[in-house]
Amino acid sequence: MVTRKINYLVVHHSGSPVATTTVAKIKKWHRERGFPTVGYHHIIDSSGTNSKVLSYDTEGCHVYGKNKDSIGICVIGDYQKDIEKPTKAALEATEAILVKLCERFDVPPWCIVTHSAHAISGHHTLCPGKNLMSEMSGLIARVTTTIASHREPMDIHKEIADDVEEVFHRRTLWTHIKNVLSGLISFIKKKWKSVFPGAKNT
Ligand SMILES: [Zn+2]
Repeated sequence: MVTRKINYLVVHHSGSPVATTTVAKIKKWHRERGFPTVGYHHIIDSSGTNSKVLSYDTEGCHVYGKNKDSIGICVIGDYQKDIEKPTKAALEATEAILVKLCERFDVPPWCIVTHSAHAISGHHTLCPGKNLMSEMSGLIARVTTTIASHREPMDIHKEIADDVEEVFHRRTLWTHIKNVLSGLISFIKKKWKSVFPGAKNT
């Protein structure tokens, strides 16, 4: 049970070459920078391996001033220098974890953001680099489609269930009103007869 409220999923690059970057190295760099632990929650390498490196309950150190309600996902590589492009495997793994996190924490796909878009004033960054940035709209669109495909049957089912419940509720209410009215009518009739014993029974 994660008690932290998650509102944003923040995508990063490691800003370091694919060939020489490992999860262990990123952890080491972050320790050396004085972070209490690794800054991101997930690190994805070029083969598509996704390592969960930090508990969701723990605030990361990945987007200054906005760690409180976010989860950080880092794709290994330097996508700013125009040298590297994210691999298909890395993009697919990123998409898969974004779908999973959106569904688990009820984060709408439009709250998947890049580090640069989510950075507060004075903390400008080019992360996750233009070659990953250019993949973001496609990535978010695919996440949106996948989530919708998972939700549709459930929503239709729920709508039908709601309709049935509403009709049932209306019928129950109508029966209740009829019972009250007929009770009231027979009460008035009885009263009428007791006040005017000679009156014709109507
Ligand atoms: Zn970043």
